[in-house]
Amino acid sequence: MDWQKEDLKYIWHPCSQMKDYETLPPIVIERGEGINLYDVNGKCYKDVISSWWCNLLGHCNPRINEAIKKQVDTLEHVIFANFTHKTAITLCQELMKVLPKGLCKFNFADNGSSAIEMSLKMSFQYHYQTGNPQKKRFMALSDAYHGETLGALAVGGVDLYSELYKPLLLDVIRIDGPDCYRCPYGKQCQGHYNSNSEELPPCNCECFKKAEEAFEQYANETAAIIVEPLLQGSAGMKIYPPLYLKKLRELCDKYNVHLIADEIATGYGRTGKMFAFDHANVSPDIMCLSKGLTGGYMPMAIAITTQEIYDAFYDDYLKGKAFMHSHTYSGNPLACSAAIEVLKILNDENIIEKANKKAIYFNNIIREKFLPLENVGEVRSIGLINAIELVKNKDTKEPFDYKKRTGYQIYKRALEKGVILRPLGDVIYFNPPLIIEKPDMDYVTDVAFECIKEILYN
Ligand SMILES: *Cc1c(COP(=O)(O)O)cnc(C)c1O
Repeated sequence: MDWQKEDLKYIWHPCSQMKDYETLPPIVIERGEGINLYDVNGKCYKDVISSWWCNLLGHCNPRINEAIKKQVDTLEHVIFANFTHKTAITLCQELMKVLPKGLCKFNFADNGSSAIEMSLKMSFQYHYQTGNPQKKRFMALSDAYHGETLGALAVGGVDLYSELYKPLLLDVIRIDGPDCYRCPYGKQCQGHYNSNSEELPPCNCECFKKAEEAFEQYANETAAIIVEPLLQGSAGMKIYPPLYLKKLRELCDKYNVHLIADEIATGYGRTGKMFAFDHANVSPDIMCLSKGLTGGYMPMAIAITTQEIYDAFYDDYLKGKAFMHSHTYSGNPLACSAAIEVLKILNDENIIEKANKKAIYFNNIIREKFLPLENVGEVRSIGLINAIELVKNKDTKEPFDYKKRTGYQIYKRALEKGVILRPLGDVIYFNPPLIIEKPDMDYVTDVAFECIKEILYN
C-alpha cells in the first residue's frame, strides 16, 4: 500500500499548508525507540524536538509501556465526576512532592489548550465570587504562545497563529515582554546563556517597567496575567531571566491579580529544574501542565491551583459557585498511569541531574560549532534546549526575508539526512528527550551544521 498517498487522501495535518506536502509528503513512522523514530522503509530519524516537545524519556520507554499495559487490563476510563480511581489520586500525591509551594488542588483536562482555558475561567470566576466582578480581562506577554483554542489563542501573541482570528478573540492586554537578544534597553541578560558577544551593561529587567505600567492602568479590571516562564517556546525559544518572574509575583500580589504559569512546555526538567518557576523560587496561583506530564504518551493536562482559589468555589450547591467545567477524558487512568511512572523514573534514575551534566556538553559543542558562522546571530540555551538564531546580518541582527523560508529549507535538508529539526522561522533548535546521550548530540549537531552550510553557503 502507498501509505503516503492514502494519508493525503484523508488526513488534514496540524499546522501545515497541505500544498507543501506535494513536495514533502508525510513521513510514515512505524516504530520508535529512545530518541529514534523509524519509518516504514527502516530509515532512522533522530527526534531532537521530542515530537512537539512532549517526549521526555524516549519513545517506547520500557517502564512507561509496562505501566500502561498493566493499567489497561485493570481500568481504561471512568467518569470523573463523583467517581475516582487510585491512579489519579496517586499521581496527585506524587506531584505534591515536587510542585512549587501552595499548589495543591488538581483539575484535569486532556490537552494543554484546555488547561489554559480552564485556568482563565477559574481566575475570572474566583474574582467574580470574591467581590471583584469587574476583573474580567487578562494580560499576556508579546510573542506568547498558549495554545490554539479561542481563549488560549487570545492570550497568545504570535501573529502567525492568531492574527486572522482577531475578530473572534477576547480583548487581551498585551505587555511588551523581555526580548533579550534584541534588548531595547541595550542590556546584557544575566543568569542564563545567551551568547551576545558585545559587552553590554548587566540587565536588571528594565523591560519590567512595561508590566508595571500595564498594571497601574489596567489591574483593576484584570483577573490574571499568564506567562510561559523563562522560555517563550513558539516565539523562537526566547529565554528571559528568573528575576522577571520574581518581580511579577510581587506585582500580582500588590494588585490582586492571579499569576498563571503555563508550564506546558517548560515543566518536567526542560529548563534544568523540575519547573521553570523553581528558578525564581516563587509560586504561581495556577500552573498548567501537559506535554511532559505523561512522558509524551497520552493526551492529558492539569490546571493546579491553591487552597485559596479552590475555597472561593466551595459552598452550598444552590449558591451556584461550583466550577461547572468538564472534559470527558478528565483524569483518564491510562494517562495517569503513564504520568506516575514518569515521576518515578525521573526520581529513580536521577534524570534531571544527569540531563544538566549533559546539557553543559551539548551547549558547548553547539557554541563551538555554530557561533563562528557568519549568519548565527545568537546561540541561547536553557536545560537541554538550545536555539540557534539565524540572521541576515549579525551586527544589525536583521533577520532573513521570511519569504525565503530559510529555516524550512534547512528542515527539509535535515530530514533527508535523518534528523528532525523543525525550526521556528529561522530559529533552529534542539529540544531533545532528556535521555539523549553524547554520541547523538555530536551526530545531530554535525548534521544541523552541514545543513545550514549547504543551504546558506552552497
Ligand atoms: C503546546 C503548548 C500549549 C498547548 O498545548 P496543546 O496540548 O497543544 O493544546 C500551550 N502552551 C505552551 C507553552 C505550549 O508549548
